[in-house]
Amino acid sequence: MANKSAASAATMWPSSGPSTEQRPYKTLWLADPQLEPASCVPEEGTGAYEQLNDYGVGPIQQERIPRTYFTMPDHERDARIFALKDQLGDRLTILGHHYQRDEVIQFADFQGDSYLLSKQAAEQTGAEYTLFCGVHFMAESADILGAPHQKVILPNLEAGCSMADMARGDDVEAAWKALADLGIDGVVPITYMNSSAEIKAFCGRHGGIVCTSSNASRVYDWAFEHGDKLFFFPDEHLGRNTASRKGFTADQMVVWDPFLPLGGNTEAQVRNASVFLWKGYCSVHARFSVEQIEKARAEHPDVQVIVHPECRIEVVEAADMDGSTEHIIDVIRAAPSGTTWAVGTEINLVRRLQTQMPDKTIFCLDPVICPCSTMYRIHPAYMLWALEHLIEGRVVNQIKVDPDIAADASVALDRMLDVSRQPQVV
Ligand code: SF4
Repeated sequence: MANKSAASAATMWPSSGPSTEQRPYKTLWLADPQLEPASCVPEEGTGAYEQLNDYGVGPIQQERIPRTYFTMPDHERDARIFALKDQLGDRLTILGHHYQRDEVIQFADFQGDSYLLSKQAAEQTGAEYTLFCGVHFMAESADILGAPHQKVILPNLEAGCSMADMARGDDVEAAWKALADLGIDGVVPITYMNSSAEIKAFCGRHGGIVCTSSNASRVYDWAFEHGDKLFFFPDEHLGRNTASRKGFTADQMVVWDPFLPLGGNTEAQVRNASVFLWKGYCSVHARFSVEQIEKARAEHPDVQVIVHPECRIEVVEAADMDGSTEHIIDVIRAAPSGTTWAVGTEINLVRRLQTQMPDKTIFCLDPVICPCSTMYRIHPAYMLWALEHLIEGRVVNQIKVDPDIAADASVALDRMLDVSRQPQVV
């Protein structure tokens, strides 16, 4: 059973949902990280939809699909997906995020992190359809970056991202207004790729920019060339880790809690801050701890610890190295045979690395970690359902960003691409 109290605290509202005042849970998203996420419950045979309801993901957006998609033997479902993929040929691109389970990845034409996959989708200009096996904000980015004729499909609409959902447009606007009311200007907004199109558009409108976990440091440099302060959305930890690397001290950063006046800070703290960090986190990466690193080192004296920068700062500082998902893969691939790696990122990726590199010892820092619960909502059953509609010329679950939002978001994305194209000064 999913933990009901955690479930309640993690209620997800659609972007058109109630305002801050109307919400029943002041500490929305700030509850303990997921201990028994819905992902740990098998998707079928146990009433997955009811589990998702219990977990507080609502309102349910994904239409029910016939149970036969779940009950048919795996080999039959897989064969049907491969056959439809063949039939659709170049008209279809299937993208698989690194955190997807192997049962999904087996169908992917391309694997990557969120940014690489969005770029990949945009480059497949001949493809009419992109079946994006990732989460909602990624499909939005693919739609924004893609050509007008390309249709992006998310196999299960309930595959959101808890971190992205922690920064809602109206809350971000309210925080921005609070700063303006104090006469604080010169603030450059930066949003992590893992955010909604609405937040990317906010950044585009306000002279801001998007970043990834790979280019956050360079984007910070850009921001301070264009302003005196920055506001980082929605991941407090990536924002803090990057600022710390740039030499900012803890008292130059404030965390902005959208449920508290002035984000939970005094006026003096706000006026003195150089970096505002939105209070959001990734429920997967926030679970890693220094104790886990100490245990790994005690049990494997030769271990090297590598973690994602969405981890808390004490974890990143205790690790031997940190970097984006692509960086983690590259480092471990390039490591000599016989080396030992403790990895602080999503379990499906860690398990895949273990399988691909049996000559190395690779394990997840958290021995009991569950997969990213929202990534896990992509299941081959939904892929088959979507493809069977596509072959009949019916597009289901298309992710289409409002053109005005897409235009503003493109401004912020283009600024990031410009920064990435500039030669890096080391
Ligand atoms: S791993 Fe974290 S950031 Fe990525 S989709 Fe899952 S909750 Fe969102």
